[in-house]
Amino acid sequence: MEHFGWVCSRCSATFGLADIRYTCGCCPHGGRLTLALDYQRLGAGHAPGDTVLLDEPSMWRYRRLLPVTESLSTSWVALPVGWTPLYRADKLGKQLGLAELFIKNEALNPTGSLKDRASALVVAKAMELGERTVATASSGNAAAALAGLCAATGLRCLVFVPERTPASKLAQLAAYGATVVRVRGDYDTAVELSLAASAEWGWYCRNTAVNPYTAEGKKTAALEILEQLGWKSPDAVLVPVGDGNILVGLYRGFVDALAMGWINQLPRLIGVQSDAAAALYEAWHRGGTEVVPTRAATVADSISVGNPQDGYRALQAVRDTNGVLTTVPESEIVPTARWFTQQTGVLAEPASAVTVAALPRLLRERHIRRDERMVIVHTGHGLKTLDVVMAGSPRARVVEPTLDALRSFITDHHGGEPAFVPANG
Ligand SMILES: *Cc1c(COP(=O)(O)O)cnc(C)c1O
Ligand SMILES: [Zn+2]
Repeated sequence: MEHFGWVCSRCSATFGLADIRYTCGCCPHGGRLTLALDYQRLGAGHAPGDTVLLDEPSMWRYRRLLPVTESLSTSWVALPVGWTPLYRADKLGKQLGLAELFIKNEALNPTGSLKDRASALVVAKAMELGERTVATASSGNAAAALAGLCAATGLRCLVFVPERTPASKLAQLAAYGATVVRVRGDYDTAVELSLAASAEWGWYCRNTAVNPYTAEGKKTAALEILEQLGWKSPDAVLVPVGDGNILVGLYRGFVDALAMGWINQLPRLIGVQSDAAAALYEAWHRGGTEVVPTRAATVADSISVGNPQDGYRALQAVRDTNGVLTTVPESEIVPTARWFTQQTGVLAEPASAVTVAALPRLLRERHIRRDERMVIVHTGHGLKTLDVVMAGSPRARVVEPTLDALRSFITDHHGGEPAFVPANG
């Protein structure tokens, strides 16, 4: 623990690990805290396996780069998170004319999204601190991640979600046994209420970016990507952006790897938003460092954020890696999610498909090249937005159990396709 402290991303003030809980008081919304690591004492310059990397099939293989007490292992084994597959999506790559396109499949985390990494670390810290109740605002996935981790460890869990949270996400929350506060209003409203309520009742607050462990937990996804590529940085990593905390978390992991001497350069971070929820893109476009809250109304509920909670650091991260922020037309998101699923076998919630939708524009504007090695971070499972999946899918017709009935069914669907002509016909 003596290897760690906090540094404010705005005013550079430093704090001891246990001396501050959430944010620095230097600005009205609170300067976001970033973990400061003593890389020398952690073994910088030596191979990962010789220093911090542990042989465990979860995000906790990197726990020595996280400020957790080693003896406190219950939450780590209660619901293992991370060590998700990274693989080449060759069919998708070919369709888009890209030589080396990889998917980091974060939907395979236990509650179905990348948010599990943040909640796992927050819950481990909550247990270490002796907290009994954890609360969070969320558009749905952070809440599910927290609710799942709390179900596995026995902590009490309250989640604040917007009134228009998809039904399948609400069902998931209820199933884990969380107390669900469905707030009249949007995600930004839920954030305000959850902060006030956590202060009022003294709950441990997991809120994205406000709790500094959220980005630090997510950094394990970046470390895994590098390890899975043999400690060679990809050229670019693409990620959907709402609050900007996933982007910041990935940046944190890449920065750690660079500082430890495991890679030679940072990948470019490319953040993608819907043009119907583009607060961060607009700040980027203006060339500014400050985000002006906007209206957010995208079908991609996980990135429907008007007042990004990690905007300042996200803009810094994109700038520092020579990356870019871009948008996709709102109307393209759902069709792209369906197309992506049919090219990969990966069922995507709408937010997770914006990166794919952005690839043609990124190519056209020369932010990426066809021969580059790129990773798209697949952030959330399609079953979380069942309404959207169902709305775009034809309802299967019931077929009588005879070959004659099947023959006319197949003729209707596949007419003259050679694969569907009977052997004797
Ligand atoms: C949370 C989330 C995002 C966006 O992450 P931010 O940290 O809010 O930028 C993208 N996709 C999915 C599926 C998410 O759950
Ligand atoms: Zn500060």
